[in-house]
Amino acid sequence: MGGNLDVSPSDSGPASPLLGTLVEVQRRTATVMGDDDTAYQCQYSPTIDLTGFSNFAVGDRVTYIRAGTQQEAMITGVLPRTSKISRPGPMDRRMDELILAANVDALVVVTTPAKPDFNPRMVDRYLALAEIFAIDAIICMNKVDLDAAMPPELDYLRGLGYPVVSVSAKQDIGLDALRKVLAGIKVVLSGPSGVGKSSLIRKLIPGAEPGVGDVRKGDGKGRHTTTSSNLYRHDGICIIDTPGIRELGIVGVSRLELAQYWRDFRPFLEHCKFRDCAHKSEPGCAVLEAVASGKLPEFRYQSYLRIQESMEE
Ligand code: GDP
Ligand code: ZN
Repeated sequence: MGGNLDVSPSDSGPASPLLGTLVEVQRRTATVMGDDDTAYQCQYSPTIDLTGFSNFAVGDRVTYIRAGTQQEAMITGVLPRTSKISRPGPMDRRMDELILAANVDALVVVTTPAKPDFNPRMVDRYLALAEIFAIDAIICMNKVDLDAAMPPELDYLRGLGYPVVSVSAKQDIGLDALRKVLAGIKVVLSGPSGVGKSSLIRKLIPGAEPGVGDVRKGDGKGRHTTTSSNLYRHDGICIIDTPGIRELGIVGVSRLELAQYWRDFRPFLEHCKFRDCAHKSEPGCAVLEAVASGKLPEFRYQSYLRIQESMEE
C-alpha cells in the first residue's frame, strides 16, 4: 500500500547515490533537485518496478546517480514519506491513489475578506483535510488591502492553534511575516479559485510559473487527471504547486469518523450518549449540547454538518 520502493543503493553501479527531492514527475523521467541545488533530469532505474503509479510524487526524497560515461542520470530509490496529500486514483487506470504532494509539512489555507467573499466553511474544509492528512495548517488571509478587519471566525481558529497571517500579494503587505512562517518547511497552498494562490507563489518564488502544469499536454487526449505538481524553492521557502488541490474532496473517511477532524470537537466526542453518534439530532449528543451552550461556535458545527451530509449516500 505504501508504494515506497526499497531499491538498495548497491544496485546503482559504480557511482554512489546522492540525495535529492523530486520537483517534477513525468512518465519516463523526473526532475531531481539535488541537495547541491542543481536540477537533474533523471530516468528511473530499470530495477524499479513502475507498475504502481504512486511510486513517485513531487516532494519525494530520492536517491539518484548523476550521468557518467557508463550511464545516464538515474533515480535509484525513494525514501519513506513523512506525509502525503493524495486522492483516489482513476479506476480505469487501476490506480488506487494519486499522490499530489509528498513530505508536506503544512497546508496553507488561503482565504480572503472579499473577492471572493470570506467563507469560513471553506476554510474549515481545508483545515479538516490537513487534519486527515496529519499535517499542520496555516491560515493565510490574502487581499487585506480590500478589507483589513479580521473576521471573528479566524480569531477563533487562531485560538485553536492554527496560525493566521494577514497579507496582500498585490500591495506587498505582510509578506515578510508570511516568509518567516514558511521558512524551512514544505507547504502546499490550498483554497478555492481566485483567492490569490498563484499570486502568492509568484511573490514568494521569483520566476515561478504556477498553474502551468495545469495545461494539458499534447498527448493528453481524454485524460481527466491534470494534476502535474511542481515544487518551487527559494530562500528557505519550499512550495509544491498542485492544481489538484482545488477539487480535493474529503474521501476515505467514514461519516462517523469525520467529527474527530474538527479539533475543537474532540473533547466532546467521548461524552455522546451513543457510540455511533453522528452529532445531528441524537439525544445526549455532547457536540450538540456544546453548540447550544456556546462552547462550540455555530460556524464550526455548520461546516461539519454540510460536509457530513454531502458524504451521505
Ligand atoms: P488563484 O486562483 O488562487 O491562483 O488566484 P490568483 O492568484 O489567480 O488571483 C486571483 C485574482 O485576485 C487576480 O486577479 C489577482 O490579481 C487578484 N489578487 C491576488 N492577490 C491579491 C491581493 O492581495 N489583493 C487584491 N486586491 N487582489 C489580489
Ligand atoms: Zn454526538
